[in-house]
Amino acid sequence: MPKVTEDVYYIPGQDEFMPDSHAYVLGKPSSTDLSLIDAGLVGKGSYKIQSIQKAGVELPAIKRIIMTHTHLDHIGCLAEILKQLPWAELWVHRLEADLLEQGDERAVYGMDMFRGFCQEQFGLEQGAFKFQVNRKLRGGETLNLDGTAWEVIHIPGHSMGSIGLYHRPMKILIPGDVVYADHAIGRFDLYGANPSELKSSLIRLAELEVDILLPGHNRIVKGLPKGYIYKTARQWEAYLE
Ligand SMILES: [Zn+2]
Ligand SMILES: [Zn+2]
Repeated sequence: MPKVTEDVYYIPGQDEFMPDSHAYVLGKPSSTDLSLIDAGLVGKGSYKIQSIQKAGVELPAIKRIIMTHTHLDHIGCLAEILKQLPWAELWVHRLEADLLEQGDERAVYGMDMFRGFCQEQFGLEQGAFKFQVNRKLRGGETLNLDGTAWEVIHIPGHSMGSIGLYHRPMKILIPGDVVYADHAIGRFDLYGANPSELKSSLIRLAELEVDILLPGHNRIVKGLPKGYIYKTARQWEAYLE
């Protein structure tokens, strides 16, 4: 589990025939108040847990799991991880938290065709993604994670309850699947997606000074060029009307 900074570990997704999201662990290595950001694809729970342990982190130090959003490639192994960390709280944006609590899996699978395929592929039952959410995020709040302030930004468009986490002093942005390296952006054709909201979210993120970009997939970037997100938004603008 490589370290991005003193306070941020990076667990690369282990893609197979489907993508597995990256996960990040926020907090100082010696801390007992760590946060895991995103889980990953179905079946990747033990890989994520082992990565955490290999870095010398004791599992009880992980106090909560914060989801950037609840697509299957991010929440697929949440149950596997919670089995190992039964004390951990789950924090999700309220728009997707309400669905999870009702066992409404439309946001998890994104489309009906995909639901059938995944249920068959992974042997998932109907209602496999029903979770109690301990804290419903709204966007606009500042989380105190191990003494470090992380701002929550609601950035819908890829999914309705997508959030970004922003550490202003070090200019670190965790945008989930909203924006990636190499001027890529998240898809906007799944349940709860909305192209014009995605455009507004990108513009919103473009206003932040970002030096370290830690997206849900593909490579992470240190030393992000100035204006990178704005340029990305402009490149995609015509598709996001
Ligand atoms: Zn996604
Ligand atoms: Zn993803």
